[in-house]
Amino acid sequence: MTPGGTVDGLDRRTLLLGSAGLLVAGCGGGDGGGKGGGEATAAATAKGPNIVKPKAGNVVTEADAAALRNRLNAAMQSGDVKQLVATIDPGDYDLATFEKFWTRRMENFRRLGFVDGQWYVGVPGGRTRNGAGGRVEYSGELVFAHTVKGCDGQQVVENMSADFRKKSEDAPLELMHVGEIDENFDPSLWDVADLETIETKHAWIVFRRSDAKRAKDFSARIEAGAARAFDIMPRPAGVDKIFYGLTWPAIDGKLWGGVAVGDADAHAYYHPFLDPAELANGQKSAANRSGLPMATGRVGLHESSFSRPDFEDVACHEGVHVLADQWYAAGGTPTWVIEGLAVWGELGADGVMARDGARIRSTFGQFESIGLKGYDEFHESSMELEFYQCSAAVYAYLEKESGRDAVLETAQAFYGAETREAGAKKLGRSEKDLFAATRKWLGA
Ligand SMILES: [Zn+2]
Repeated sequence: MTPGGTVDGLDRRTLLLGSAGLLVAGCGGGDGGGKGGGEATAAATAKGPNIVKPKAGNVVTEADAAALRNRLNAAMQSGDVKQLVATIDPGDYDLATFEKFWTRRMENFRRLGFVDGQWYVGVPGGRTRNGAGGRVEYSGELVFAHTVKGCDGQQVVENMSADFRKKSEDAPLELMHVGEIDENFDPSLWDVADLETIETKHAWIVFRRSDAKRAKDFSARIEAGAARAFDIMPRPAGVDKIFYGLTWPAIDGKLWGGVAVGDADAHAYYHPFLDPAELANGQKSAANRSGLPMATGRVGLHESSFSRPDFEDVACHEGVHVLADQWYAAGGTPTWVIEGLAVWGELGADGVMARDGARIRSTFGQFESIGLKGYDEFHESSMELEFYQCSAAVYAYLEKESGRDAVLETAQAFYGAETREAGAKKLGRSEKDLFAATRKWLGA
């Protein structure tokens, strides 16, 4: 976030792509010998070509998954939490927690009116078949995907571990247990309070009832900050709003998986777009459809941000982070690229140099070595504030020498690369070169 000890969620919470680590309960039940048959089948399936005849035994099919998914989605459409709970046949699993969680969510979604939610059920590779025809039970991923209207160019997906069962060949696929939501999303703002919203042209402002007055009082400044972020950043496809949540001390830094922060005034929390159908099959793979943003974000405005004289700049700064997430590929983005862009976005080249020029010139030498290092060296330094300013100076130099397109091109190259080295290669210019040229331009 904003200079003054504030940090963004995205760096700490890089998602590892790859197997979601399916836990398989194994085939329960079945008659004598059925279990062995099921395991042999599973092994063959997991290794590659499926050499078992499709009709052999009790098999979980795509159609079974689709039928369960339809039941879940019908419950979402109806808004009736009882209908959602009824999709689970719990055995000895206590449904009260699930019901309480989804009651709050569905009520919030109804009040907010801007969330579209959908479920995904997959057929994970391995043990979704019992060759002898007996009961199939397994653990897999259940996926809930949502879009906030105007904010999300693709679906934001959350996965939760779940236990599935198909009692016999002709029986439907059933849910037996739904576990907690993936820690990267837990809890969302709509899981911790009853929410209301104010819509402005460029923002959804979301708040507890008890913060309604503050939300109203600050809505014009939030809108102004968001509008400035949209003015300076390219607009991601399908996006014309930024989500701003008013947080409070008990949840500051704890939303969406949490971030390691002390006195941060605000955060932009990063939500990568993963392919929901693949995730339901147990694989985390980026949903990188051409022309669509790679990620979105949510802004959390802490209580302390509301007493800042530069509140509108804070709203703009966080908005720039969220809009830059459209390029965010792999988590290798250097910290100076992220924070420098947001400070530059608040002030522009002239503003950065007018406000912080003297301090930048006197500290740029120290920044040059820290800027090449990692997140902790940057954020945990006693010179963090100066590092934010020096990072912005790199973009100020680019704007003055080559125009705003060069600023955006540089940020995008690093955001979109797997590693900072790959980002530099894509840009055709090393970080060291950029820093040296900036120092020369500064006359430092
Ligand atoms: Zn920031």
